[in-house]
Amino acid sequence: MKIHEYQAKELLAAAGAAIPLGMVATTPQAAVAAFEHQGHKPVVLKAQVHAGGRGKGRFKDSGKDFGGVKYLTKREDVAAVAEVMFKYPLVTKQTGPEGQKVSKVLVQEAADIDREIYVGIVLDRGLGVPVLMACAEGGVEIEEVAARSPEKILKAMINPDTGLQPFQARRLAFELGFTGDQIGQAEKIMTALGRVFLDKDCTLAEINPLIVSKSQGDKPGAVLALDAKMTFDDNALFRHPDIEALRDLSEENPAEVRAGKAGLSFIQLSGNIGCLVNGAGLAMSTMDIIKYHGGEPANFLDVGGGANKDQVTEALRILLADPRVKAVLINIFGGIMKCDTIAAAVIAAFKEVQPKVPFVVRLEGTNVEQGRAMLKESGLNLTPATDLTDAAKKVVAAAG
Ligand code: ADP
Ligand code: MG
Repeated sequence: MKIHEYQAKELLAAAGAAIPLGMVATTPQAAVAAFEHQGHKPVVLKAQVHAGGRGKGRFKDSGKDFGGVKYLTKREDVAAVAEVMFKYPLVTKQTGPEGQKVSKVLVQEAADIDREIYVGIVLDRGLGVPVLMACAEGGVEIEEVAARSPEKILKAMINPDTGLQPFQARRLAFELGFTGDQIGQAEKIMTALGRVFLDKDCTLAEINPLIVSKSQGDKPGAVLALDAKMTFDDNALFRHPDIEALRDLSEENPAEVRAGKAGLSFIQLSGNIGCLVNGAGLAMSTMDIIKYHGGEPANFLDVGGGANKDQVTEALRILLADPRVKAVLINIFGGIMKCDTIAAAVIAAFKEVQPKVPFVVRLEGTNVEQGRAMLKESGLNLTPATDLTDAAKKVVAAAG
């Protein structure tokens, strides 16, 4: 599960990290009110969407040349820019060409930035522990730095029992070039990031950028978390009702949300062949073989080992609600589930949903003969397939 930047920063602040002042607005008027409330000081309007790369994004069809992060100093500009942010979808590298509708804008105090640093924690599956990564060249191009000069990425392994140790955070702070009071400030933010990561079962927690503001006269710059991104382990959400409450379903794919409610594992893809499969491994190989034969899957869908009629019906409804789906492949291996049970579910679901697109069905496993006979006798417009290759060829041809 993902959350918004403003929510991630609130979690960091609660763990002791310094963040800039800000208010969340849901209308252009509220954005202006927030600007006034913050004393007409320069602000950055930040579109809250779950996708990253907002700064370099653009609002689709708006004709404007700014993205989801905009520095502003005047009241009328806040009004005009907020108007655009709420009106047009934001397209970034991570949203896809359709973009994402913006329903919240963070009106954040603008920082006078001296330098931008990257810090982030992910689970290192090779080492089997979370690893804190830091890079003095932070900001918006961190992926490129990691690819071009991986030696610039500093790392600290986190012991899951004891958490990130103060000496580890201090060592990184030195290596990142912090001096004086900034060392303690950076240490505090990194420690907060480590705390949140472990306490809330994150799969990713990052601050990019962590900034040092410009010094003013004798006053040295301060260290602040300017942007934050977090994702949480869905399997651990049951023990974090506070995190689950932060979920914003409007940011998620509606078909995926609907499938989740029915207990189906569904991921929307961009092709035109709908797939209904039982078992994640079989679903993966089904997608592979469709691609191998020149087709493009419209989705990944695992109805699970013990799918019932209701789940199969809901799965078909979800598949067929996508107008891009031109043909469907049902690929079932009756292991835990028997083929006659799944055939009965398919027949019942078919009668209810009455699909208009061609279907190819490959059944294999326990009671396969009964299952095939039932499908044949049903008189439904289903093309049987003998094996996976046959099924893939037939469905690719059917989808054109
Ligand atoms: P994203 O990573 O989605 O592009 P960020 O919040 O990281 O969004 O913003 C992109 C860039 O905009 C930052 O690297 C920083 O240079 C600038 N920026 C973001 N927030 C502020 C702020 N409050 N004050 C000044 N500049 C900011
Ligand atoms: Mg960022």
